[in-house]
Amino acid sequence: ESVLTTKSFGRHYKYLESVESTNRIGREMANEGAPEGTVIVAEEQVAGRGRLDRGWYSPYGKGLWFSLILRPKFPPIEAPKCTLMAAVALIKAFRRLGLQTAGIKWPNDILVNGRKLVGILTEMNGSMEEISYIVMGIGINTSSTLEEIPDFLKDIATSFAMEGVTVDRREALNTILEELEMQYNKVLAEGFNSTLAEWKELSITLGKDVEVRAPGNTYEGKAIDLDQDGNLMIERADGSVERVVAGDVSIRPA
Ligand code: ADP
Repeated sequence: ESVLTTKSFGRHYKYLESVESTNRIGREMANEGAPEGTVIVAEEQVAGRGRLDRGWYSPYGKGLWFSLILRPKFPPIEAPKCTLMAAVALIKAFRRLGLQTAGIKWPNDILVNGRKLVGILTEMNGSMEEISYIVMGIGINTSSTLEEIPDFLKDIATSFAMEGVTVDRREALNTILEELEMQYNKVLAEGFNSTLAEWKELSITLGKDVEVRAPGNTYEGKAIDLDQDGNLMIERADGSVERVVAGDVSIRPA
């Protein structure tokens, strides 16, 4: 029987034991016309990916590795809103599941005490004018322990279990899809402003001195705000402000 309490998210659902990546299946299904709200979940990803072709470690049964297909009617330039809205929804879901301390690192990571609990990878297809689909890959470490994870992740990753919270993956996925659906519908109905405000509340990046490595450029300064499209605004020492569309943020020690 199903525990699903959403209206549309997860109603079309594909469960797989092992995949290269759920986003890859998601893109194939979206290309074949899968509707908005379609969810692809796998027990393991053997070639899970982060941004810039970095790997996402997704061992069997130890996390929620899934992708969600969205078909928003806004132009591609606004696509980053989907990543931001997802981060807000995930944190709300995590609070309901008993984890209170997660924050958002711009643009797409959810951290607990500086360690990464979630990665979000948003991929888009469409024209300059119109999004055909977005496939949003979400990887959440649930039951991995410090002993189990590979050495290169021991200092940078965390999981629900490592934070002392036990989750039932089915129930957790339902809670997460509920929050994602609510947040997405709110963005569609009311626009992005209230989600943006919530994002700012939950951000661990804003207000910090940061270094942002972007393709071809590095920006240093204070992360002062997020603009309407989700770009990070960096104020340099000389007072000039730069808008950064994408990049890797490191927070500089005070
Ligand atoms: P970021 O957005 O921080 O640049 P990515 O989205 O590119 O991160 O994710 C890939 C990076 O995340 C990897 O290079 C690795 O450092 C880290 N990573 C990989 N798998 C996991 C995992 N299961 N949990 C936490 N961090 C991970």
